[in-house]
Amino acid sequence: MRLAVFGDLRIGVVAGGAVHDVTALIPAAFDTWPEQRMNWLIRNWETVRGQLTDLAAFPARPADSVTLRAANPAPPQLFAIPANYHAHVGEIGDRAVTTGGRTAREAGFFLKAPGSASGAGEPVALPAGSARRFDHECELGVIIGRHGRNVPRDQALQHVFGYACLIDMTMRIEKGQFEEDRSLRKSFRTFTPLGPYLVTADEIPDISGLRSRLLVNGQERQTADLGDMIVPIDEAIELITSVVDIQPGDVIATGTPQGVGPVRGGDQITIEIDRIGAMTVPVTEAESSPRPF
Ligand code: MN
Repeated sequence: MRLAVFGDLRIGVVAGGAVHDVTALIPAAFDTWPEQRMNWLIRNWETVRGQLTDLAAFPARPADSVTLRAANPAPPQLFAIPANYHAHVGEIGDRAVTTGGRTAREAGFFLKAPGSASGAGEPVALPAGSARRFDHECELGVIIGRHGRNVPRDQALQHVFGYACLIDMTMRIEKGQFEEDRSLRKSFRTFTPLGPYLVTADEIPDISGLRSRLLVNGQERQTADLGDMIVPIDEAIELITSVVDIQPGDVIATGTPQGVGPVRGGDQITIEIDRIGAMTVPVTEAESSPRPF
């Protein structure tokens, strides 16, 4: 099933080119906290999914007529895996935090601000007036379905609710000059496009063999087989849950393959992953910045 968050954070099921508005299934209390609707839906999926068998019962509109928001607008936690494809390790040289050939296996994970999540219908806004380098990273986003703590690897995929395309936007460091923490550099508002939809895991029994691609202004910059991750999804969940609990709605950015590169205002970034979807987001410049970056 393909779930969408659209407009003023309504919930939809996408089928046959239409978005069926199923927001009425979410408790009305969430009308005052709409960014949490998707977290509620994921947490209560087993009881709600049976009510989604007759989509004709829900009002529909053309899928291309809605403004898509982040596939989960308020993930409780947004984890990210660095240096998770061999060909990417070392490609950004001194601009990398994972120097000396370290991969995700040694470097573990880091956090992006959940508030950086945005959707297919929202531009990536670079900090105003910046001369810094901002890179695209083409990643698979994994959405967690249920709580876990110390989850062994052979049970880890049971905690996966679904998948979405994820762009991990990054302000690069400049050795000796600007070396801000990774959390800051990757957390600007709109620096984690997640979408276009949330595809439930039952539609994707195995991610290996699926290709991801990222294009800038129509030219391919990155492509990879998702099966080439150094730390695959099950091991990532084992690692993360050995440190902290995972919660329904959490998102894991699973790392970028080679080919990261800069974007500027006016560019168009397209990300597509087999069987998951595709989205194109424009790059703009934010109107203001509280301090220069
Ligand atoms: Mn990344």
